Amino acid sequence: MNINSYMPVKVVSGKNCFNENYGLLESFGRKCLIVTGKTSAKKSGALDDVLKALSSLSIEYDIFNEISENPYTLECFKAGEKAREISADFILGIGGGSPLDASKAVAIYAANPDFSHSDIYKRENCNKPLPVVLIGTTAGTGSEVTGVSVLTNSDDNMKKSISGPDCYAALSFCDYKYTLSLPFNITVSTALDSLSHALEAYLSKSANDLSSIYSEKAFSLLSAPLKNLYEKKELPSENEREILYIASLFAGFSINITGTCFPHALGYILTEDYNIPHGKASAAFLPDFIIRSKVYDKTKVSNALSLLEMSEEYLLELITVLSDVNVKIPLDAFPKYEGRWRGSVKGFIKSPGDFKTPDAIEILKKYS
Ligand code: NAP
Ligand code: FE
Repeated sequence: MNINSYMPVKVVSGKNCFNENYGLLESFGRKCLIVTGKTSAKKSGALDDVLKALSSLSIEYDIFNEISENPYTLECFKAGEKAREISADFILGIGGGSPLDASKAVAIYAANPDFSHSDIYKRENCNKPLPVVLIGTTAGTGSEVTGVSVLTNSDDNMKKSISGPDCYAALSFCDYKYTLSLPFNITVSTALDSLSHALEAYLSKSANDLSSIYSEKAFSLLSAPLKNLYEKKELPSENEREILYIASLFAGFSINITGTCFPHALGYILTEDYNIPHGKASAAFLPDFIIRSKVYDKTKVSNALSLLEMSEEYLLELITVLSDVNVKIPLDAFPKYEGRWRGSVKGFIKSPGDFKTPDAIEILKKYS
């Protein structure tokens, strides 16, 4: 048996967990840079709670609210400069996966004034990042608990993640009440991201006994809310919002051990070039992933289906309908993708069987 793992984040969860525990911020210093997207921190109610808390703790702050979806390295670099200018002691990220991932990068840039924006991909002998505190407002990426930050390289517009011990938050507040303002489409996309994480981790060659338990818990939790999103096409109830958030964290614990497989690697193409949101883009390749996985581990696929309480046919249909990807990739775009996947692609190596670039191209060609 193998339960090798590393997850150093202090996680505080539950309704009102930030309002009841914001005193924990005091140990991080007297000044912070708040990092957010354009509107979600406000819409979710999290920013108002944070500003009240900071004022009552007499912690000074400045706000950087220019983080885009699929955040760019240059935006994070700019926020890092701002953190240095104000001598921030810590970074407080509020939002979905994009501002949360950006916050991890901002903390690295802030502590490394000699870095260019692209140096973040080759961090050697670099200074320790500022501590990062996160408050999630979506239920999908698990960024609150992973040592990963997915950035879009401003030089070539390609999504590329950084990972390692310097990419973990110190503290994450996970209060589902900040996800209640999510509209239907983002709710669906982020729920599909959790499903992708749970499935990719479960069926990965890197799965171990602990990651499998986390994925299994995520499958059980995701079962009812996913069926309801698919069948009723309604926003989740408050109870389902809580379940979706906790499921995203279990799936996050799981990918934190294994990393993702080919659906995520292929999904990046749909996000970069066709503007498909991250969760739907990865999920678009789950049907191929599930069908391929059956050849290598039929038992695990059956276990996943039984915990999701779905037949294979139902799950594939649910994924296809909810991901709703209708793109047409021109044939002359394929050499670019082939070039990108030359050499070793982590998500391919971890996928079941001997998954290589020609396999990826064949799957992607279904969209041509
Ligand atoms: P997101 O890109 O953070 O946000 C998507 C949209 O939802 C944005 O328009 C955002 O507004 C809005 N939004 C967020 N919270 C809201 C709320 N409570 N109410 C209303 N609107 C809200 O979405 P995400 O799916 O959570 O994150 C995707 C990113 O995470 C991708 O870059 C992906 O690659 C990455 N990711 C990271 C990991 C990891 O382990 N670190 C894992 C999987 C995915 P604003 O623009 O105003 O914020
Ligand atoms: Fe993801």
